[in-house]
Amino acid sequence: MVVAQMRASRIEVSQSAINQNVRVTMQTSHAKHMFLAIKANGYGHGLLEMAQAAKNAGVYGLAVAVVDEALAIRQAKLDMPILILGYTEPQYAEFLAQFQIITTVPSVSWLEEAQSFLTGNHPLLVSLAVDTGMNRIGMRTAAEVQAAVAVMQAHPNLFTWEGIMTHFATSDTAETDYFEMQLSRWHTVIDGLPCLPPMVHVANSGAAMYHADEVPTDFIRVGTVVYGWEPSGKELNPGTELVPAMSIKSALSFVKQIPAGEGVSYGHLYHTTNDEWIGTIPMGYGDGLTRTMRGYKILVGNEWCEIIGQIAMDQMMVRLPHAMPVGTPVTILGTNGTQTIDIWDVCAHCHLQPWEFANQLSDRLPRYLVD
Ligand SMILES: *Cc1c(COP(=O)(O)O)cnc(C)c1O
Repeated sequence: MVVAQMRASRIEVSQSAINQNVRVTMQTSHAKHMFLAIKANGYGHGLLEMAQAAKNAGVYGLAVAVVDEALAIRQAKLDMPILILGYTEPQYAEFLAQFQIITTVPSVSWLEEAQSFLTGNHPLLVSLAVDTGMNRIGMRTAAEVQAAVAVMQAHPNLFTWEGIMTHFATSDTAETDYFEMQLSRWHTVIDGLPCLPPMVHVANSGAAMYHADEVPTDFIRVGTVVYGWEPSGKELNPGTELVPAMSIKSALSFVKQIPAGEGVSYGHLYHTTNDEWIGTIPMGYGDGLTRTMRGYKILVGNEWCEIIGQIAMDQMMVRLPHAMPVGTPVTILGTNGTQTIDIWDVCAHCHLQPWEFANQLSDRLPRYLVD
């Protein structure tokens, strides 16, 4: 998609917020190495912008969901370990090996299929997935893991056993029974293995923040916390300062006064009740804002102004308290001077979670890494 750079609307990602959240997460989890999850366009913050931010913050590696994301990072020449968390088709094994991308392997049959695609010029870096109850991908028994290890050991030129992982379905809730059950299944599979690979990684944001004393955390793979969002939605207080990294900014593109009784925007869902000053903002649902933001108050300069009328694809209107110049800065998310629009408040208004809201922001909005 085309990125609209010649327009005031943009996403800013704060490097200092990322640095702070990385520090907090490393300290809380006692991690030695972090893979920062930047899949799905860096949770909406921009894939390459987040890759750069991670490198600046001293993060060890990057985690993505699909091969194409890994390749985009390699093409940007960011020299960091890359881990694919999701399922990759075995036909891409040689490609993954060549670009030294650590690949999640869900089954013995996957390894067997991959063999026919591997040339042995470079070994494929394998991270075995153990399914302890997420029920998404992975091996369920120690026997399966041992069979996979045997395949790799039989073909050392084709495979390097780099890691083993599991993923928790409920690591960020007050109720911990299911988490404990998954952890005990993990031990059942892992404890009897004759040897382990260098990377044993199980902790997502929830496990890293709330279960660091129970799980291995030398390597963690986290996203949510580093973007500055408390994974439990503030249900559990980790007692740490997370700073949301994302701001959404724009500027007034048009200002006018209209008399009482006029309808504004599609369907005239809003009618003026007085002579009203109306400001236009060059941003809409085509940028990924949700139409349910109508009625929410955002900052125009330092004034709180309500979004009025239907949000259109490319533009939306706010009611201004008085005349304001075109070009006045607009804050839709984040901080302007002393005032902050908190993502949890926006999301409560829209009935979304922060990770859903941020993820649906479209590629048309440019992402800039700031301070
Ligand atoms: C997305 C993902 C993560 C990161 O999860 P957060 O909750 O955002 O920290 C970790 N592991 C796997 C397998 C994932 O798919």
